[in-house]
Amino acid sequence: MQVEIGDSVLELVEGDITRQDVDAIVNAANTSLLGGGGVDGAIHRAAGPELLAECRTLGGCETGSAKITRGYRLPARHVIHAVGPVYRDGRHGEAGLLASAYRTCLELASENHLASIAFPAISTGIYGYPAEDAAHIAFRTIIDYLSEHPEVKFVRYVLYDARSFAVHARVLEQVLAA
Ligand code: ADP
Repeated sequence: MQVEIGDSVLELVEGDITRQDVDAIVNAANTSLLGGGGVDGAIHRAAGPELLAECRTLGGCETGSAKITRGYRLPARHVIHAVGPVYRDGRHGEAGLLASAYRTCLELASENHLASIAFPAISTGIYGYPAEDAAHIAFRTIIDYLSEHPEVKFVRYVLYDARSFAVHARVLEQVLAA
């Protein structure tokens, strides 16, 4: 599924974030930036030990923010390590923090002249954010950013399985219709 946002494109695919050949892939990291399970583990395995070595120099990252490294053995030239919120009950600022994590990734792409970026569904795995709510926030934030920042030309949103893909495709239709 592909939609045009101004002069940019937002694409939804089912796949593995580590295999994406884009300027930067986004990691669903934790505040230590020293690796973890899920997407984080997969990215570190695919990138090789040099990625962890660079991450050790960064001093961690706050929730709702992101930091950039090189991509080492990945097809992507860079990794943007984003820290989404752990979901509690939706009343602890989770929505704002999730939007801020996405926005910071996009701002880092602009600042580093990266035209293409791939996201996983941040916070929807181990961090427990309900997928549909997270998808609304992700797409609203990405679409708003692309409307004002044509320098980011291509955003690919990567879902790991068919069920998440179906949920996200439906939410994207809703956000576009709103
Ligand atoms: P978080 O801790 O932020 O919740 P996770 O890594 O646990 O991050 O999961 C985030 C989402 O990424 C989940 O929906 C999970 O199914 C998905 N996911 C896991 N591995 C991959 C992968 N290799 N590529 C893309 N998405 C993945």
